[in-house]
Amino acid sequence: AGSRARAVSVRNEISYVMVKPDGVQRGLVGEIIGRFERKGFKLRALKLYSTPKEVAEEHYKDLSSKPFYKDLVQYILSGPVVAMVWEGDGVVASARKLIGATNPLASEPGTIRGDLAIEVGRNVIHGSDSPDNGERETALWFPEGLVKWDQTLEPWLKE
Ligand code: GDP
Ligand code: MG
Repeated sequence: AGSRARAVSVRNEISYVMVKPDGVQRGLVGEIIGRFERKGFKLRALKLYSTPKEVAEEHYKDLSSKPFYKDLVQYILSGPVVAMVWEGDGVVASARKLIGATNPLASEPGTIRGDLAIEVGRNVIHGSDSPDNGERETALWFPEGLVKWDQTLEPWLKE
């Protein structure tokens, strides 16, 4: 903490992370949240959510021209999701590493998708792909805002 210079400067960011309906149905919520908690990131928002169609379509609008777009929106609407926002230095890229490659068969073992999924159309989790999208997706999924709190173990996580 504090303003001391660090060897590598990494920005504090937020990432929108979501356990998709297959992850909820398969009972993977605790497993997935646990990985982010154990890493040390700070949870800023969390809800079990029955996604409105407009939110799902807005979330994936950049993929609207893809042949799988309709199935993708249907997949995301097929049951409740667990929507979360995690904060931390470099959390966006780090979360993507924890999550693994989009296609679970190409995801490294040790990653969430690498350990827990086999198909791209059932890849259990979403994570923002850039800090800007972390902000944008957070505003879309949590218009009610985030929870402000002090993480008391911070001195044990950050020099
Ligand atoms: P992500 O950022 O790793 O989630 O991947 P993308 O942003 O490229 O795609 C968003 C989501 O669309 C993925 O997580 C998959 O659920 C789905 N998706 C991506 N590519 C394909 C595909 O080729 N086929 C199908 N069925 N779904 C896909
Ligand atoms: Mg993406």
